[in-house]
Amino acid sequence: MLEDKKTENGSEAKERNDELFNRIKDLLPKDAGFVKAEFEGPDIVIVVKKIAAIYEDESVIRNIATAVKKKLIVRSDSSVLMGPEKALEVIESIIPKEAGASNIKFEEDFSEVRIEAMKPGLVIGKGGSTLKAIAMQTGWSPKVLRTPTMDSDTIRGVRQLMYNERDFRKKFLHRVGQNINKTVMKSEWLKATALGGFREVGRSSLLLETPHSKVIVDCGISPEPGIKGLDANASGDVNKAFPYLDSANFSINELDAVILTHAHMDHSGFIPYLYKYGYDGPVYCTPATRDLVALLLNDYIKLVARSGGTPLYDEKDVRKMLMHMVTRDYSEVTNITDELKLTYHNAGHILGSAQVHLHVGEGMYNIVHTGDMKYGFTRLFDPANTRFPRVDALFIESTYGGPNDITPNRHDTERNLMETIKRTIDNKGKVLIPLFAVGRSQELQLVLESYMTGDNSPYRFDVPVYLDGMILEASAIHTAYPEFLKEGLRNRILNNRSPFESEIFEVVKGEREQVFENGPAIILASGGMMNGGASVEYFRRLADDARNTLVFVGYNSSNSLGRRLQNGVSEVPLPDSDGKMAPIKVNMNIKTVEGFSGHSDRRQLISYVEKLNIRPKSIFTMHGEEHKCEDLARTLGKVAHAEGRAPMNLDSIRLK
Ligand SMILES: [Zn+2]
Ligand SMILES: [Zn+2]
Repeated sequence: MLEDKKTENGSEAKERNDELFNRIKDLLPKDAGFVKAEFEGPDIVIVVKKIAAIYEDESVIRNIATAVKKKLIVRSDSSVLMGPEKALEVIESIIPKEAGASNIKFEEDFSEVRIEAMKPGLVIGKGGSTLKAIAMQTGWSPKVLRTPTMDSDTIRGVRQLMYNERDFRKKFLHRVGQNINKTVMKSEWLKATALGGFREVGRSSLLLETPHSKVIVDCGISPEPGIKGLDANASGDVNKAFPYLDSANFSINELDAVILTHAHMDHSGFIPYLYKYGYDGPVYCTPATRDLVALLLNDYIKLVARSGGTPLYDEKDVRKMLMHMVTRDYSEVTNITDELKLTYHNAGHILGSAQVHLHVGEGMYNIVHTGDMKYGFTRLFDPANTRFPRVDALFIESTYGGPNDITPNRHDTERNLMETIKRTIDNKGKVLIPLFAVGRSQELQLVLESYMTGDNSPYRFDVPVYLDGMILEASAIHTAYPEFLKEGLRNRILNNRSPFESEIFEVVKGEREQVFENGPAIILASGGMMNGGASVEYFRRLADDARNTLVFVGYNSSNSLGRRLQNGVSEVPLPDSDGKMAPIKVNMNIKTVEGFSGHSDRRQLISYVEKLNIRPKSIFTMHGEEHKCEDLARTLGKVAHAEGRAPMNLDSIRLK
């Protein structure tokens, strides 16, 4: 389907693209020995006989890129590449030992050599000098990847997959490039359809259509009915679990691209299903999002299987999705169809999270989709970006957009948490903090590290902080992408003083007995809303002791165990080791500490809109409970003197 869609203009397109490639050829220095130019995903690859001729004057490539408005990649023709064995020797002699290079692998299909390093900066060299030396002496174009300072199975797995599937990747990227550049169309209209996550939290998905392009932003599942609802055999309200893809009058095969804002399941969880049912186009995301998605989706599959359900898809489908991912950094402008340009911007929510800026047609229309977004202080990230080249319509999240959603400031929030912990420890109790493995866990690690090791801190408790569940692996992924983190934190990781590796943290591997037997402790356990995961296991053992405290720091959906405990139930049924439901008495203290959220509160949402450098004409709220979406839409409409609206799922809005 994808292939045939625009063939009516095939010959014209070929002519136009050949013209483009010829132009590039003419702009290159003659002695570079131009062989060919071709599309590779959204980029153009230029293959030459003498790569040194191009590296000698870098302005050449910059100027061509500006002229053709594409990202250019220069590579050597395979005929002039140095043999891998010899090249490896040369590369090892060029890279300084302190770079900690490892895992040097040659990708013949791309004429690239992949170099992993503890200190990528030293492989790159001043102004790229070391990279240049490698390319000029061996012909191979170096691609540098950061080795995480903590071991990560996920990163190793994803990188191995990309290497093993390089043959497929080459063909796939070529096909994507062909599709993007098939025709130049002028579209007369633009339509947005809410497929999920409107007037609710969960299963986020938005379809954007022109007469010639169809893309979706996010494709998640709902956390609402719990793990059971995510299961294809569930008896619960499955109708609310997934986006309305089948009701929107289009087939999965017609999609040109999936644009992913960030890794959380309510945005990514349905994507592998698309591949299971025949989608074979690209998913765009940031590099950090790709690795976190691999972690979260594989964990979801395990969790469902463990609870006796049948997951919607399996590891094979997740691998397929990963093989189709095209990563982009913040601020890179990318043509994803002939008329849609995508640019990601920082969203401040979790590692790799991005706001989406879409430029449609030649200046016809501009959309900003915030994804999940934090416009406020966190220890991990800078606040969400508010500067865009143009904005006509804004789609904004509303998780805490209600009139009462004013969270306390961070200083008070942190003091509140530390005081709660202090009281519990003084009482010889244990503190259990259930967390989403990605995001709040790392934020809490930073808070605890800061207070428990700070010089004049009144909270230098001498108790272990246990990490259980996926938290460690998620933290490890953070150490591979310091460029996404706040400057101070980034520098600590780069200088091998990563707070995630502080000695206050103890990792629980397998046996949990030691945690229960030893005295006071702080336990960070994955399973944020307590619908499953390590947090539930700890709760089961700690619940009846009144000295212990359960502290919530994040969002609990309305049907979750977390919400019921927050509401003060005195007894909850939980399955015992045989799977039989048994009542658990709740004697431990239950406390909610607000203010750690990775979402903006009401004030932050309003000030985000006020700070936008350009005032949107229309503001659409999403990702919030019904009354919050409605109220926020009204308020923001007034603030920005714009149309403010809270669409319902399945609403279609003509934007242009
Ligand atoms: Zn999120
Ligand atoms: Zn979300």
